[in-house]
Amino acid sequence: MTNYNFPIPNTFGIDAKAKLFIEYYSLDELRQVLKEHKGERILHIGQGSNLLFTKDFDGVILHSKMARARFLDDETVEAQNGLRLDDLIAQLTDMNYCGLEKLSLIPGEVGASAVQNVGAYGCEAKDVIVRVHTLDVETLKERVFTNEECKFGYRDSAFKHELKGRYIVTSVVYKVKPGDATKTREEIIETRNGKLPKVGEVGSAGSFFMNPFVPEEQANALLKQYPDMPHFASPQGVKIPAAWLIEQCGWKGKTLGGAQVWPKQPLVIVNANNASAQEIMELAAQVSASVKEKFGITISPEVNYI
Ligand SMILES: Cc1cc2nc3c(=O)[nH]c(=O)nc-3n(C[C@H](O)[C@H](O)[C@H](O)COP(=O)(O)OP(=O)(O)OC[C@H]3O[C@@H](n4cnc5c(N)ncnc54)[C@H](O)[C@@H]3O)c2cc1C
Repeated sequence: MTNYNFPIPNTFGIDAKAKLFIEYYSLDELRQVLKEHKGERILHIGQGSNLLFTKDFDGVILHSKMARARFLDDETVEAQNGLRLDDLIAQLTDMNYCGLEKLSLIPGEVGASAVQNVGAYGCEAKDVIVRVHTLDVETLKERVFTNEECKFGYRDSAFKHELKGRYIVTSVVYKVKPGDATKTREEIIETRNGKLPKVGEVGSAGSFFMNPFVPEEQANALLKQYPDMPHFASPQGVKIPAAWLIEQCGWKGKTLGGAQVWPKQPLVIVNANNASAQEIMELAAQVSASVKEKFGITISPEVNYI
């Protein structure tokens, strides 16, 4: 019988355990761990702020304690995977460097910022990432991916598809420039604190769904019926905010067991009262089914189900 003894950190506050949870402090240690656990199921996590553990994890969870950053020159900074992205941005801002400030207060670590291509306020990680350093889980060799090779998309990268599970992001090189970002950072922190659940206070994984893109004809037909519908033209199609669609379906503040659609921002599902992963998944399924029924639009989860 398998023993699941190790609680897995996750911002949803889901009680899930793994067979093993290992933190490493150097690349050599990481190589050693990978050698020792070759053939076992491995999942590398950051802060667990975009994960929904639907059951205990039958394998080894890895987490980096490498959390340093250094300037390579006046325009680039290399940060290790385990550094909290917002700590990096805070340090850069203090040192009078700008470029990443719109990503302020996004939970999670540097490693995942590249995997997820995190974004907010019109800026995405891909806009500031120069290259991504990785370790190949099979050969234990380092490999560097250029920005193009990462195939970044909306909350997406090759690390979520063809490279998934094969490479551990070990550090990310971001481009920065001298400049005062204090005001932008403060404004963003205030706005985010006003509408998003605070990590450590209310369990969530941030936006549960991605914003859908629909063909122009479909958007035009919907606009005849819903003239107030917010919409944004883009090369991928017309983007419609998922939060608006969910709100129109009457979900704001609604609960299912311990799970709730966050009253201040309906794109977020929270663990309001000891929710199980099944309750969160069921609420998400009902939300997306009702959006499909009312608008004919499919909304997909941004959160990774494990
Ligand atoms: C309150 C709240 C607000 C949020 N707001 C935003 C927002 O505005 N914009 C946004 O984009 N996201 C947002 N998120 C989602 C989340 O912050 C991001 O997805 C973040 O990148 C997750 O980082 P993490 O370190 O917690 O990664 P995890 O959730 O632990 O992991 C995410 C994925 O990355 C993989 N991974 C992690 N580290 C590595 C590594 N070193 N190498 C390879 N793979 C790795 C994991 O296996 C997993 O597939 C929010 C979340 C919360 C809770």
